[in-house]
Amino acid sequence: MSKYIFVTGGVVSSVGKGITVASMGTILKSRQVSVSVQKLDPYLNVDPGTMSPYQHGEVFVTQDGAETDLDLGNYERFIDVDFTADSNVTSGQIYSAVIAKERRGDFLGGTIQVVPHVTTEIKERFKRLAQKSQADVILIEVGGTVGDIEGQPFLEAIRQMRNDVGRDNVLYVHVTLLPYLNSTQELKTKPTQHSVNELRRIGIQPDIIICRSDYPVSEGIRDKISLFCDVERQAVIPLLTVPTIYEIPLILEEAGLGQLIVDKFGLKAQEADLTQWQELVKSLKEPHEPVNIALVGKYVELNDAYFSVREALRHAVLYHDRDINLFWVRSEDLEKDGSDVLLRSAQGIIVPGGFGIRGVEGMVKAANYARNNEIPYLGLCLGLQVMVIEFARYALNSSEPNSTEFDPGTPYPVIDLLPDQKEETNKGGTMRLGNYPCQLLPDSRAVRAYGQSLVYERHRHRFEFNNQFRAPLHEAGMIYSGLSPDSKLVEICELANHPWMVSCQFHPEFGSRPNRPHPLFRDFIGVAKDVLREGAQPPLPLSS
Ligand code: GLN
Repeated sequence: MSKYIFVTGGVVSSVGKGITVASMGTILKSRQVSVSVQKLDPYLNVDPGTMSPYQHGEVFVTQDGAETDLDLGNYERFIDVDFTADSNVTSGQIYSAVIAKERRGDFLGGTIQVVPHVTTEIKERFKRLAQKSQADVILIEVGGTVGDIEGQPFLEAIRQMRNDVGRDNVLYVHVTLLPYLNSTQELKTKPTQHSVNELRRIGIQPDIIICRSDYPVSEGIRDKISLFCDVERQAVIPLLTVPTIYEIPLILEEAGLGQLIVDKFGLKAQEADLTQWQELVKSLKEPHEPVNIALVGKYVELNDAYFSVREALRHAVLYHDRDINLFWVRSEDLEKDGSDVLLRSAQGIIVPGGFGIRGVEGMVKAANYARNNEIPYLGLCLGLQVMVIEFARYALNSSEPNSTEFDPGTPYPVIDLLPDQKEETNKGGTMRLGNYPCQLLPDSRAVRAYGQSLVYERHRHRFEFNNQFRAPLHEAGMIYSGLSPDSKLVEICELANHPWMVSCQFHPEFGSRPNRPHPLFRDFIGVAKDVLREGAQPPLPLSS
């Protein structure tokens, strides 16, 4: 039977609970303990797919096509397992399921209540994941902070689990923040005590407390938390802020968390082997020459909107023993005259995914700049559509080619809805989502990157390349290097007369791993690193 670890957050949000959970997965996996993960999101949306990136950050897409919280991306990158729709549960999903059952008559005669109906539905999701994954340990992260109104049913459900599956099979981990007071120059434990009290009030006593802090946590502070929160001293784990998130598994391991979990559950485990992670962190910490990459998007004020893109770029530069100098360019700023200056020092340009017309012309300008100046370009989803629009304007010698998403009346709808999408009126969960096969063209940059002819990649879009324009754009130099196996859908485009201008209709960033950069990101950086730009010239040879 699977063991369960429930992770709650206290004091404030954004203390890195997701990364902590992902890192716990890493250290368990390094002992040959199998893990699966679930994120509980207390909001009432069924999934984050309909939320603005400003509200929610990136929407991560699983292989089976679920639109999920970006923490799932961290779980996949850290644990190197591809998770499914079962790994993200929202209050919206729970309530819709309960109400659908009520309408069907499953509870005839009964009054439907948060306890037991909603909590039972929640617990069924835990058990379903355990049953399907057969993992030794199920890590469950409760989103939000203890005390939030909408999180109450989730906390009540995790409390009930202790009796349902037995005390020896459940651990509660609380992640808190120790604030630092400048005036007295000390870390304060009181907010942690309060948040543990709040947990106890609803019947949960944490077994382990992970203390996030920007300053070293003294032994005295650990003693105090242990005493006041009634947690064994060795189970008070300090977690200092570090420059790279990939160091966190090593820190938690060093603090003894892995062994503690194994002992508490009595798991059969091997010695931890984190060699790969140690090498990764060592390499990340070494100074490397940076590659200048411009990321041109509409949500750049919030870097979390492009979380997986940024991580995929990091994995790729690491592969080439380089660092990244990523500058975030607001696509709207590029729409102004003379804005090319924003791109002048870029050795590579990346246009990621997005929705809606705002900033699109700026992205088209970026694609135009990349094409004319032979700057490597990687387009992701909307980035492909923008590259096609820009190229069509050049090839058809007209300013009018566009996507019908941005100009429904364009005479050149180079990007358009497929007929089945035209009939769709609902917005939630109705895009082309999840893994689809893509057949690669021999001798293309795409096939050289992947090293295989058939690949599966994750999608999240409504609009597609309009096949009516395949021939004219091809004549002008566009190559369709990735197609759906029935040849009906364009999945990858590249330009013949350009060093490396490659775009894909899917989202390769979701499949990149720290030790296995995505092939398209890897090759994009591989070409970009050798581009000579302002501020990026190699050192001049010393004259003798
Ligand atoms: N808005 C575009 C579409 O729906 C692109 C989506 C994306 O970049 N994820 O097709």
